[in-house]
Amino acid sequence: MKVVSSLAELRSARAALHGPLGLIPTMGYLHAGHLSLVQRARIECASVAVSIFVNPTQFAPAEDLASYPRDLDRDLAMLKRVGTDLVWTPVAEEMYPSGYQTWVTVERLTLPLEGAWRPGHFRGVATIVAKLFNAMQPQRAYFGQKDAQQALVIRQMVRDLNFPLEVVVGQIIREPDGLAMSSRNSYLAPDQRRAATVLHRALKAAEHAFAAGDHDAESLRRIMMDILLTEPLAVSEYVSVAEPDTLSEIDGEVRRALLSMAVKVGKTRLIDNLELG
Ligand code: AMP
Repeated sequence: MKVVSSLAELRSARAALHGPLGLIPTMGYLHAGHLSLVQRARIECASVAVSIFVNPTQFAPAEDLASYPRDLDRDLAMLKRVGTDLVWTPVAEEMYPSGYQTWVTVERLTLPLEGAWRPGHFRGVATIVAKLFNAMQPQRAYFGQKDAQQALVIRQMVRDLNFPLEVVVGQIIREPDGLAMSSRNSYLAPDQRRAATVLHRALKAAEHAFAAGDHDAESLRRIMMDILLTEPLAVSEYVSVAEPDTLSEIDGEVRRALLSMAVKVGKTRLIDNLELG
């Protein structure tokens, strides 16, 4: 497994890899969710590359850029075990040199949900992912359904900017009690960790109601809200029942939907989602 940082090293290491190449962009502090994407790429591609970069431009000033968990040695050991050919840890000064002024903006898809609560977030995400694609030139790029809106935004950018690659989206990997795996779960104290299961419980309650015949969007929102309200340590930012391709909120009857939510448990912001229909 080769590990590189500078763009010059990346370019020569990339040239030595056999295609098709699969890329998994990450911010590190890896867990089984990330590794599921690496394992899938291992099966589907001749070579597998992982980038590890806590991208500063996708964090707002009041967010957790400085405290975001980092452990490169542990990440590298995990990646070596699952079989990774190339790890790129970009250098912030090379990604965003002084005078930097070029950005990728995906318009409508970034307005609701995460985009509404984290202004500028998707501009940072789309920009860094475009830069990773340009440098790495993968034939496939792997993202998690955990960040459902991000996956849609990247698909749209790939289509709109004619990136010659396929976007693959892997299912959400969860802890045994249902909590979606996330690097940010490491922030949770034991009582908060117990409270954090409320997101998945709320999603499952709406899924059960839908399966039992409740197909009204507002009723499904209320079911999720009511479960979230039972947990005093959880404060919800949004609860959404949206059209899965456009993310516009559904009014009235639900046939297919993306159920999603963002909830704060203490200072930790958690997101989760589930597809219906
Ligand atoms: P991050 O390091 O949080 O930027 O995540 C890197 C990639 O891993 C993104 O495409 C995420 O959607 C994906 N990912 C994060 N958590 C999970 C999970 N629990 N299950 C599946 N994919 C995940």
